[in-house]
Amino acid sequence: MIKTIRDTFLPFALPSISEEAIEEVASVLRSGWVTSGPKVKQFENDFCDYVSSKESIALNSATAGLHLALEAIGLSENNAVITSSVTFTATTEVICYFKAQPILTDVDPIHNVMTPETLLETIEKECTVNGNSLIHKSSGKIVKAIMPVHLAGYTCDMEALIEISRKYNLFVIEDAAHAFPAIHKGKMIGAWGDFTVFSFYATKGITTGEGGMVTTNNSELASRMRVMRLHGINRDTYNRPGWFYEVVDAGFKYNLTDIAAALGIVQLKESPGFWNRREEIALRYNEEFSKLKGMKLPLPDSRGKHSWHLYRIELDPKVAKMGRDSLAIELKDRNIGSSLHFIPIYEHPFYKKNYNFKKKDFPNASKMYDRALSLPLFAGMNNSDVDDVVTAVKELLG
Ligand SMILES: *Cc1c(COP(=O)(O)O)cnc(C)c1O
Repeated sequence: MIKTIRDTFLPFALPSISEEAIEEVASVLRSGWVTSGPKVKQFENDFCDYVSSKESIALNSATAGLHLALEAIGLSENNAVITSSVTFTATTEVICYFKAQPILTDVDPIHNVMTPETLLETIEKECTVNGNSLIHKSSGKIVKAIMPVHLAGYTCDMEALIEISRKYNLFVIEDAAHAFPAIHKGKMIGAWGDFTVFSFYATKGITTGEGGMVTTNNSELASRMRVMRLHGINRDTYNRPGWFYEVVDAGFKYNLTDIAAALGIVQLKESPGFWNRREEIALRYNEEFSKLKGMKLPLPDSRGKHSWHLYRIELDPKVAKMGRDSLAIELKDRNIGSSLHFIPIYEHPFYKKNYNFKKKDFPNASKMYDRALSLPLFAGMNNSDVDDVVTAVKELLG
């Protein structure tokens, strides 16, 4: 077999930082105001305009956003939250912060997201209906919210998920860490659920190094999040002297810095270009790989716009020339990175031990876990990087 090897390692994701972004960050550093201030305010306003939400709350991570959203809806240890079995631990760990019960749904076999069907299946199996509420059978806790995850940037069926949620008095908190910029049925992700939580981690669609944003149309709960992101300090004390503030709860330290927000403002402005390049690469892969046997490709979203955060393939071990593990190793030998999104939550020792999840309840997630791999996809890949991935994958699976 021919073996083409790159000189340098190609990671599966890298941030794209322009000279303009560096200049904007430098000017904040020179300004004397480096923590939360005017740049954060501007980033929040720009983000509201971009996704058409009423409120945007900038934070130092998406994990903080998921946590604050659950705090704002008043989650307690007597509650349960339903989320997807295929996600990063951030989505489920925040439920555990409250000693509440995480309930996991299986995912659909194609896009590996929570669907109306997998949600209803979980409700039927795990819950009893009591008036307008759902009670988790084994813990006796009242289900308070669902947290769908737009995996890889393929959007969940929001209309149907919201309809089910309204029936049972559930808040909808979307994990949109992968879903910027994604459009679902003509409306941007960020304008659909009760809360939408974006991540600006280094590998995400846009980055602030570390950072996150919650969008919502609920101004009352937005102000609760603004209070709780900074020590529980209520600053709505207009007629008081300048030194006066009141602590109204034991809050958190989740604010974004102006240094990070300055980067975010430029990234947001540049994001249409990032997305165009990501789509171009994904479609090129799809075309090149279309004839490879046993390889399932990620399709564009006919209902809207895929964010193309990840390019996730699946290999059928019985049909493809090699399995997922071998492909990952062979790619690494050729200096090409890859990753897996995600090891299902129920596989992790912490969740297994404390919540007694059983693999057999998640047949589609389990199948995905044996087969999925994310290939390099980021806006800064040049054509020769893309060629290298195409050549290697075709060599190995053709
Ligand atoms: C990255 C990620 C998060 C966490 O984002 P942070 O900004 O690092 O807190 C949450 N959920 C998913 C699905 C992610 O990929």
